[in-house]
Amino acid sequence: MTQQEYRKIIPDPTPETAFFWKKCKEHELWIQRCIECSRPFFYPRLHCPECRSDKVEWFQTSGLGTLYSYMINYRPAPGFEDEAPYAIAIIQLEEGPRMMGNIHGIENTPENLVLDMPLKVVFVDANDETAIPNWEPA
Ligand SMILES: [Zn+2]
Repeated sequence: MTQQEYRKIIPDPTPETAFFWKKCKEHELWIQRCIECSRPFFYPRLHCPECRSDKVEWFQTSGLGTLYSYMINYRPAPGFEDEAPYAIAIIQLEEGPRMMGNIHGIENTPENLVLDMPLKVVFVDANDETAIPNWEPA
């Protein structure tokens, strides 16, 4: 998919998020954990949100999770016009942290979106540098 075809906002990596986006481009979902207290966390940051240690490391997730919550958006953001109505979902990763995402592969209706349903990550190549994690039923 070329950038002309991908019309949604493309993330602009920061020093803290650059590794996350690099791994997304390789179609792998990596998050961080604290070396001191072992807590995994997301979004990327320099310090553990639990104990404030700066001893943090990256690890690859299973790419699996469950549907924790969602809302259905009927007024699409720029680039999402062809997909409305669509769910803005919160995915509970198998490793513990939650992240937001969209759910592909099924019509995003309350009947189809069952809380705790198993999901797996899929990546959409937005341009030559960036792939966006999304989710589909596992
Ligand atoms: Zn910690």
